[in-house]
Amino acid sequence: MAESNGKSRVIDIAWSWKWPDLGCEILVSASVVEVLNRYRQVGPNPERGGQLFVDPLNPVGLVLADASTPNPADQVGRSWIDMDSSRCRREVVHANSKGMRLVGYWHTHPQIIPHISRTDIESFRRFSTAYNHELPHPIAVIVGTSRKANGIRVWSFRDGRYIEGVRSGYGGN
Ligand SMILES: [Zn+2]
Repeated sequence: MAESNGKSRVIDIAWSWKWPDLGCEILVSASVVEVLNRYRQVGPNPERGGQLFVDPLNPVGLVLADASTPNPADQVGRSWIDMDSSRCRREVVHANSKGMRLVGYWHTHPQIIPHISRTDIESFRRFSTAYNHELPHPIAVIVGTSRKANGIRVWSFRDGRYIEGVRSGYGGN
């Protein structure tokens, strides 16, 4: 049971993403996985996406605690997404008021195993430049249609490079 700020923050962890060379790990909450699973891009659906927030004070580690859901104001196509900037700002204000911090965003691809695209890399370069102070190392989560482990992948952007995280079970397995 995790205690933080005098408030109980019990959280189910589904898995962790590690960057062994960077010495960094993010624990992914079951509620975030539930959101990612819900919007997989099957059939003719357009891309969907949302923002990702961490709870930096959780004593179990850096926890990816919240994923915002797709918004009707987002501009979307079969293989592109432009999330509405005012909804993004509102979500950041709301998350900050709960002690959470923006860490990046997630979106779907109409691929079984998602691959990061040139467009994704460009938009993440812009994103990390815009948030350089608050967010020097943003992450991009891309959700494909496969329910296997490699159906959801993550990349960390830092120093102009993007490095994939390795998924492992929580608790060392
Ligand atoms: Zn993409």
